[in-house]
Amino acid sequence: MPSSRYVLHDLIEQPGFNPSTQRDRGDWSLRDVSSAQVFAAEDGKPACIDHGAMNCVTENMSLWRCLMCGRATYTTPAPISWTSERRMGGVECVYGTRVPLKDVVNLLTDCTDEEIHWYYPSVTVQQVARIREQVYRDA
Ligand SMILES: [Zn+2]
Repeated sequence: MPSSRYVLHDLIEQPGFNPSTQRDRGDWSLRDVSSAQVFAAEDGKPACIDHGAMNCVTENMSLWRCLMCGRATYTTPAPISWTSERRMGGVECVYGTRVPLKDVVNLLTDCTDEEIHWYYPSVTVQQVARIREQVYRDA
């Protein structure tokens, strides 16, 4: 299940990444996400498989690091939705879920973020808030 808050990437995928800063760490350290050494925790933030919570080391919350072992990951904000022909017949769904985006949008006027999360537990309160923000911004 992908994180609802961030998409986690291997550090090597970061734009402008300079491999020479990692010279002493070995190739393994650059692929912690692909090798499942770094994953998205319950709260959606990156976590180290051995040490748990990672610290964000940049102001824009894009670079995260485990203070115990130095594993690092680069994150981008998770999109609101995703679409695949193999999921719900290609209907646009809330990112990381099989809940059609329009079902959530239809509830926005009558329900609180918490109520919508109660109807669709796989959609987090924070995701509902982001969808609400986007819908009212575009309206
Ligand atoms: Zn660690």
